[in-house]
Amino acid sequence: MTEGLQFVTLRGGERVPALGQGTWHMGENRRRAAEEAAALRLGIDLGMTLIDTAEMYGSGGAEEVVARAANGLRDSLFIVSKVYPHNASRAGLVAACERSLKRLATDRIDLYLLHWRGSIPLAETLEGFLRLERDGKIRHHGVSNFDRADMAEWLALQGGGTVAADQVLYNLARRGPEWDLAPWCREHQVAIMAYTPLGTGGMLGNPALAEIARRRNATPAQIALAWLLRRENTIVIPKASRPEHVRENRGALDVHHRVKRRQRHRHVGGMDGDALGTRPEYGTAAIKPCDRGAA
Ligand code: NAP
Repeated sequence: MTEGLQFVTLRGGERVPALGQGTWHMGENRRRAAEEAAALRLGIDLGMTLIDTAEMYGSGGAEEVVARAANGLRDSLFIVSKVYPHNASRAGLVAACERSLKRLATDRIDLYLLHWRGSIPLAETLEGFLRLERDGKIRHHGVSNFDRADMAEWLALQGGGTVAADQVLYNLARRGPEWDLAPWCREHQVAIMAYTPLGTGGMLGNPALAEIARRRNATPAQIALAWLLRRENTIVIPKASRPEHVRENRGALDVHHRVKRRQRHRHVGGMDGDALGTRPEYGTAAIKPCDRGAA
């Protein structure tokens, strides 16, 4: 099902879904694994075929849930996983990747990220990533929780220009990446992956958001996601383990397209959230350089 989807083009030209699915807290409880895999599978069926996971989530359990959801569909998926910083040495990275591949029951990870910056020199991690790419174990590599200065440092490394994405905290209430990271990433063709796009659900009770949603005939979650989907070069990865949440989140793409159409009719330019009715002051109090809420 590709109708109404949106894509982000990675450096090198590959198109990936702009709306994917997160998996943090999945795989923590074996009794819930089937339910979680079914939620991911529903999302896949609805076109949210980019799935974000990490060796950290559920101590590998989330990767196993992804494998369960992906069964028989691997070629239609874009799987993102992340390595712990303490495993990101030349040899450690290769070993961690092998463990993730095994848990994911696949022969390659589409995008492999350094989860956050640790004490291992970035050059060593990059070397490991490039080796994994040469060996066909990963298709792209990237980073997470890097601010603009970290990104500039990475880019200056030999081969650093191949970084595909930076996954960061970015939502209506946490707009730090807009300060300087997002413009830098656009300029250097590095995709932004917006994590915690629903503020882990906490922001959804905000009265201003509820009012905007009411006026747009949408739900607060859909407005929060549609607001991010309007950002160029941005991949959005809400996590949902309940089927009703998965369906609702997929509906954010419809809200997004509806607003875009309306905006086109009115010949209003610009990419800001105003056509959604999100006033500039909403949530901007938190603007600051990239937050580091790694998970
Ligand atoms: P999130 O996606 O903002 O929120 C997830 C929470 O919202 C869950 O409790 C979920 O409930 C609920 N939810 C989902 N859809 C909803 C809806 N339509 N209406 C109401 N509630 C809804 O938070 P997140 O999990 O922190 O972030 C998303 C993903 O980003 C993670 O899963 C992970 O893959 C990634 N991430 C990466 C980092 C990093 O350091 N790189 C850090 C944090 C997150 P149910 O599960 O019960 O449906």
